[in-house]
Amino acid sequence: MNDFDRFSAKNAAMSRAWEMTGDKKKEEKKEYKPAEPKMGICDVCKQEALVRPHRSRQTDRTDGAASFGSVVKNYCEKCFPKSKKDLNTPPPPSAKQVKNLLKGAKKGLF
Ligand SMILES: [Zn+2]
Repeated sequence: MNDFDRFSAKNAAMSRAWEMTGDKKKEEKKEYKPAEPKMGICDVCKQEALVRPHRSRQTDRTDGAASFGSVVKNYCEKCFPKSKKDLNTPPPPSAKQVKNLLKGAKKGLF
């Protein structure tokens, strides 16, 4: 093995390693991970509980100038702010409603 071969072999190994780390990074980026609850202090009730971070936009007014930023706060399951979408969804049907729905479905099927 001459010096040139040794050099290119080393290079190939390095680029392989680089490719591997590059692929790993890509995978991590692609994969969406929801915020995992963890033990912490809730920013609302100040109780130690399983909290989840929540990013919200905040407007600060200092000396008449408004600055916009986002703050991340930890909320327990009880205090976690519901998104507008959640608030707009109707409550789940009651047992009676479910029964009626099933009856209707059966009538339609048989
Ligand atoms: Zn709380």
